[in-house]
Amino acid sequence: MSDKITKSDTEWREILTPEQYQVLRLKGTEPPFSGKYCDEISSGTYVCACCGTELFSSDTKYDSRSGWPSFWRPIEAENVGELADTNHGMRRVEVLCARCDGHLGHVFEDGPQPTGLRYCINSASLDFKPSEE
Ligand code: FE
Repeated sequence: MSDKITKSDTEWREILTPEQYQVLRLKGTEPPFSGKYCDEISSGTYVCACCGTELFSSDTKYDSRSGWPSFWRPIEAENVGELADTNHGMRRVEVLCARCDGHLGHVFEDGPQPTGLRYCINSASLDFKPSEE
């Protein structure tokens, strides 16, 4: 993985849309079934909307019926970071982009095999790069 990316709040605001900024930098959550990639089924790669780091492959995306894009594994374990999150009275594990510390979503242990994990990710945190056939 490439080096860490650090930018000021002002710089992130210039690069990101207000919705992306709210989710990625302020750890917001988009409303369920509202995100643009919730029902996306094309082949391709989902990268970080902040810094372009490759995060998830369409090969591991599945319909969790949660209302958010869901994956059972990141492309590379080292590309995502995890952090204990006890906000909102819940014990959850936050998922971040390892390169820019952008908030992506949370990971839960109710996903499909082979990992049993559900990476529940905001569409606003992602950019989809379709495969070139
Ligand atoms: Fe990033």
